[in-house]
Amino acid sequence: MNRAPSPQSSIPFIVGLIVFILVAASAGWFVSSGNPSHPTRWIMLNVSGKDAQADCHLLQFSDGSAALIDAADAWDAPGVAVASLKKHGITRLRLVMISHFHLDHYGRLVDLINAGIRVERVAINLPGDRRLADREIPWGCNWEHVQSVLSFLREKNIPYFTPKAGDTLIQMTNAAGVVTKLEVVCLFDGINTPIGETDMNDTSIIARFTHGKTRALFTGDLNHPLGAYLATGPFDIAADILKAPHHGTEGLAPNEFFDRVGAKVFLVPSPAGLWASPRSKRPRDYYSERKLPCYVNGLHGDVRVLFDGEGFRIETERDANL
Ligand SMILES: [Zn+2]
Repeated sequence: MNRAPSPQSSIPFIVGLIVFILVAASAGWFVSSGNPSHPTRWIMLNVSGKDAQADCHLLQFSDGSAALIDAADAWDAPGVAVASLKKHGITRLRLVMISHFHLDHYGRLVDLINAGIRVERVAINLPGDRRLADREIPWGCNWEHVQSVLSFLREKNIPYFTPKAGDTLIQMTNAAGVVTKLEVVCLFDGINTPIGETDMNDTSIIARFTHGKTRALFTGDLNHPLGAYLATGPFDIAADILKAPHHGTEGLAPNEFFDRVGAKVFLVPSPAGLWASPRSKRPRDYYSERKLPCYVNGLHGDVRVLFDGEGFRIETERDANL
């Protein structure tokens, strides 16, 4: 049986411990081992099905928090988005940003909340009127369904809001002094736009993620008309990494938009077959002619972008020869 040390016998030990802590602190021993930072990363989750596409991007920050840009999986891969978030140990999201109201971008928002993932707030962009939504019912947009999702958020007391161009949605500085930000570049409602009425894809919130010297541009399903405007417009869209607009398929923003962004890497949320098809030929040719890498979740699985403040590196779940 152990006996507890008497108060008198523990005093030298406590004094020794205090001296050790003071010496260690003055020597800076705790700078590298104390207050560990979580890696800052973006994971393009593989939510692609065999034939269908969707967007779901997990952002993880130095303080251990996380956010999601779009919340869906492909109609032929149901349940994959929520399962993937669970696999990554996500129990709480400080923000979910829904780029636009097509089901392949917002379709699992209710499911992930029902699965017990706590969502603190949701950024959305509603179309300027119901007509814009309902004429795209065949493409996964339906005003009544969108309203039912918003009503669900109200029932759960989860605030939702429409940001403005220039808003900073997330900002923090890590232990090394590196600043991380998620900012809204621009958004339009499909009615009041500089190019007249557009489709739902061109209501996508365009957002920039910055960590230190690296910038990534999230484009939702940005299409040709608004993409052409942004190629010469007043917004700063330069980025090192570009999340492919509209799954890299026909109708997406023009090559002049890619020129203006100037990205070195292209991340494409697309099933393998769609990326290999004639529908994705233009962006495929654009990046291959410039010998710039494309990462496709339907080929590579989850694609992880790890940021270190000076630059970034990319890891994939699977190897794939493109
Ligand atoms: Zn869309």
